[in-house]
Amino acid sequence: MTTWTNHHTDDRPITFSAPSGIDRSAHHRLDEAWLAAAWSHPTTRVFVVSGGQALIDDTPDGRTELIMTPSFEAPLTEAHRYYLGTDDEGVSYFALQKDALPGRMDQSARPAGLREAGLLLSPRDAGLLVHAVALENWQRLHRFCSRCGERTVIAAAGHIRRCPACGAEHYPRTDPAVIMLVTDEEDRALLGRQVHWPEGRFSTLAGFVEPGESIEQSVAREVFEEAGVVVGDVEYIASQPWPFPSSLMLGFMARATSSEIQVDGEEIEEARWFSREDLRAAFEAGEVLPPYGISIAARLIELWYGKPLPKP
Ligand SMILES: [Zn+2]
Repeated sequence: MTTWTNHHTDDRPITFSAPSGIDRSAHHRLDEAWLAAAWSHPTTRVFVVSGGQALIDDTPDGRTELIMTPSFEAPLTEAHRYYLGTDDEGVSYFALQKDALPGRMDQSARPAGLREAGLLLSPRDAGLLVHAVALENWQRLHRFCSRCGERTVIAAAGHIRRCPACGAEHYPRTDPAVIMLVTDEEDRALLGRQVHWPEGRFSTLAGFVEPGESIEQSVAREVFEEAGVVVGDVEYIASQPWPFPSSLMLGFMARATSSEIQVDGEEIEEARWFSREDLRAAFEAGEVLPPYGISIAARLIELWYGKPLPKP
């Protein structure tokens, strides 16, 4: 089978998947004395996360960064303090979960969610924000004990919810999802249109891994359910945290062993085989919109396409 190499996308890491340079230092999460010392250390940096957003700002040299302050300037709400990790210079990072973001500080400071910020921030800042948003989403949706129904309390600097009634400890959940570019014997790629997508938007197929299923089985099932195409060999490419609200996208290239398409009509409205030439012509004619945004889907398509996709 083909082995897919990344040489033409190596210089552009997948958003949220690049090394962030932050050591999550999980062993510190239950050490209250260490956390208190880290919190009050003058080099510590803190940002507020609220509703999946944080404040970002443009720097004079043209970069965009998370707005972070020393902890003494941050409002102390220990109950909603997430320890995110420490970098190799010993700087520790915390996120504070609040009901609202602080007011605008200056002209260019603005609230941003992951879809916007992921395109702009450095791998370090994107990594900090995706960690904080994933924790916030999980905390928001898991306030009650799934064992006994009692209200749970935050612990381990944001990484555990504990039940005071039955003693259960609940950990952040991550839901695996598969996303795959399927190619056929003629090396054409299968792209589909979801029912609610705007006209002209085509992308890879994707879906959630079901209980009791391997990821390879999941790839084959999803492709067959959505497009009626049978898949043989499956090759893992890369993953991407996707906390909308709690997924981990597992990216694959998959080889079809059949080519007839029969869409399910519920999730997928239309699916088509594209040769590289078909796709190039469809982009030029405006018939297919180039994929945009931060999703790993664009990278999977690009890996097959062999060169960067046109800008939307
Ligand atoms: Zn309980």
